[in-house]
Amino acid sequence: MTISDAVSTKPQVTASSQTIPAAKRILLSGPDVGELEEEYLLRAFRSGWIAPVGPDLEAFEKELADRVGVAHAVGLSSGTAALHLGLLGLGVKPGDRVITSTMTFAATANAITYCGAEPVFVDCVDDGNMDPIQLHRALKDSIRSGAKPAAIVPVDLLGRPADYDRILPIAAEFDVPVLVDAAESLGSRYRDHACGSLGEAAVVSFNGNKIMTTSGGGALLTNDERLAEYARYLSTQAREPVAHYEHREVGFNYRLSNLLAALGRAQLARLDGLVERRREIRARYRDSIVAVTDGTTLFGDDNTHRDNAWLSAILVDESRTGFNAGELGAWLAEHDIETRPLWNPMHLQPVFAGARMYGGEVSEGIFASGLNLPSGSTMSDDDVERVIATVTVFLGQRGCLAPR
Ligand SMILES: *Cc1c(COP(=O)(O)O)cnc(C)c1O
Repeated sequence: MTISDAVSTKPQVTASSQTIPAAKRILLSGPDVGELEEEYLLRAFRSGWIAPVGPDLEAFEKELADRVGVAHAVGLSSGTAALHLGLLGLGVKPGDRVITSTMTFAATANAITYCGAEPVFVDCVDDGNMDPIQLHRALKDSIRSGAKPAAIVPVDLLGRPADYDRILPIAAEFDVPVLVDAAESLGSRYRDHACGSLGEAAVVSFNGNKIMTTSGGGALLTNDERLAEYARYLSTQAREPVAHYEHREVGFNYRLSNLLAALGRAQLARLDGLVERRREIRARYRDSIVAVTDGTTLFGDDNTHRDNAWLSAILVDESRTGFNAGELGAWLAEHDIETRPLWNPMHLQPVFAGARMYGGEVSEGIFASGLNLPSGSTMSDDDVERVIATVTVFLGQRGCLAPR
């Protein structure tokens, strides 16, 4: 039993339908840690390498780089820190424009703002990832007005890779570097490439609810040695390599600790299994919810790429079902099942009101109709069946089960 199970175990709840057994709360995406993590963490602890760096950090960086197929990985305190240093490494300066996808978590846009740069948002296509046509428009517009963007930050939404066959040539045409926000897509593949290996650099996150976790952490991945070295230097207060403390630039305290890197090594060793389990869960939802319902679809589900199925989401077409995603989410919450809306697009956020935006309807539609279902790799088969049974009762009540 994991700690998250322990804290979420509650006494019997009163289910409002007799057919649904009440049980412990099912989380959206809890950490999946166990004996291996404990062993690695304790070994690092007992080695005496508590802080600030150490052999587990070096080994984790090497294993991560090998896994993704890049030359360098820099372990950092969060994915957000990795985005920040990646942008600085690409030369993003105050006043610059940086183009990113509106359909993302706020961290992507926040990191752009930390550089004093201006996020320019573009809409997504149906799978929630950056629309190359809107990207092209945004680039042309900015260049025409004399403000060539300093970087492009595509996001692999919910683990599914963006359309790099189209995005990378556009970036090359305009000579703008690409920093991929792969925070959600570690373990996914885009054609023959591991996610996190495309672009000038990419960022992954090891936050608590991501596909693998170090409780908190992230990394910058790149083939560019200069970029990796610069990020490592900035992450340790930009200290010059001399004995007396000397600093020529403002740095940050962003390095990943050796203990957390040890945790990361254990998780990385299990990554394939974690991905496999999430893919199984998504397949169950596909076969047992989406396939038997009129008016729901599995978000971003096709077999072109082998993604990590970080979060499984369904889209509810209210005009066909007569209910919306929020109502289904509320029903599941009543039955102690955690769900969440998809990311609320950045151009709708008060903090980014007034930002430049290209398109918007597609992301707004996805936000309105999408619901993330419990997807964590710690879910037992019984947990998955309980989610399906609870959804099925709701669909039955609303008359949405398709005749078989
Ligand atoms: C989680 C996430 C981040 C931030 O990672 P942290 O490690 O939490 O700082 C950035 N971008 C996206 C798309 C994310 O999902």
